[in-house]
Amino acid sequence: MDDTLALLGGTPAKNTPIPEWPYYDERERQALMDVLESRLWWRTPGTQCLAFEGEFARYQQANYAIAVTNGTAALEIALAALGVGPGDEVIVPDFTFVATASAVLAAGAMPVLVDCTPDTYCIDPALAEAAITSRTRAMIAVHMGGNVADLDALLDICRRHKLYLVEDSSHAHGSEWKGRKIGALGDIGTFSFQSSKLMTAGEGGAIVTDNQELERKARSIHDCGRLPGEWFYAHFMYGSNYRLSEWQGAVLRCQLGRADEQRAIRTRNTAFLNQQLSAIEGITPQKQDARCTCNGHYAYIFHLDTSAFAGISVPRFIEALNAEGAPTQASYPPLHEMALFQSGEFRRRLSGEQASQKFPFLHAEFPNTARGAWETVWLPQPALLGSEQDMQLIVAAVQKIQRHADQLVKIAR
Ligand SMILES: *Cc1c(COP(=O)(O)O)cnc(C)c1O
Repeated sequence: MDDTLALLGGTPAKNTPIPEWPYYDERERQALMDVLESRLWWRTPGTQCLAFEGEFARYQQANYAIAVTNGTAALEIALAALGVGPGDEVIVPDFTFVATASAVLAAGAMPVLVDCTPDTYCIDPALAEAAITSRTRAMIAVHMGGNVADLDALLDICRRHKLYLVEDSSHAHGSEWKGRKIGALGDIGTFSFQSSKLMTAGEGGAIVTDNQELERKARSIHDCGRLPGEWFYAHFMYGSNYRLSEWQGAVLRCQLGRADEQRAIRTRNTAFLNQQLSAIEGITPQKQDARCTCNGHYAYIFHLDTSAFAGISVPRFIEALNAEGAPTQASYPPLHEMALFQSGEFRRRLSGEQASQKFPFLHAEFPNTARGAWETVWLPQPALLGSEQDMQLIVAAVQKIQRHADQLVKIAR
């Protein structure tokens, strides 16, 4: 058998295809045709977004859900509904997609970034508490990769300091904390249905909450400040157009119908990978909190100690693993290192004394975020929908790279 690394011209270890994503079948095809022929393409007189909202709220065990244009908009609306605005601070993990922080800037408020834990890569509650000031209004937890952030600790901190807790659940459709679905365990939660997410209509988002007043505000904000039952041209608060289309609502209903079945496959494959990969020297899978009783598994994340791989760089490992036929990607960079923050550009969103305020965290070291950002490898969720044999081949690909890592040291960058 040819054991040469695929990156060096050998045969890939994994020759089976990755399940195609987004997944669809006759159900989506029929649903789209039904919307087409109904001529109800707009949610306001339509039925699909409304039905999806009911189904998604039930799925996440929340009292209410509002379907919106995307996950970034969902965060912006959630913060607006909470009344976050100029002069406020919102505590956000340094390790997340930019939208978690940019939504705070969109509100004219300051995202105060804090480190994550070294093993779950979710926000560290003790550091979040230490970052509270008299200006802090809210915290945003991100359920990284589907693993739920420590909601017990975060809820306790938020209650004691009278802060709102927002759950950015863009990775965590179907995830649970101690037997209850996430999203509405905090004050308000947000989801994304962008193409890479666990269910998708290409773009899309949702807000969930158990709080009737927040639902009323968020629903109004997403529809130009209107209120249900009132005249179409009566506008009661600041809002914009964040409405989802009926096409997307119809597709999302089909996708939701498959969510549990797909999650079961990802859960089974994740257990297999955890067992097999943690036996390989230098590989540490993301820790799953035992209180996270169900995990949507947006990604399979593992830390790579490259000293067990002849000291090759993480990007080189990712390149080699991709060449072996296992899809991998790098992680999010630390937010505070981004040009948005380092150039001072973010200040254009702020006003008053906040616009020139010194924020020490911008020059701080966040060792655990650095570890998550630069030393982890992500297998995206569609790869977790394969068979057990596919998982075996991913493990074999990692083992093969370890056997021959010394050959990757020599080749030019
Ligand atoms: C995808 C994502 C978002 C934004 O969702 P969009 O639908 O792409 O706007 C926000 N937060 C996190 C953590 C995400 O992964």
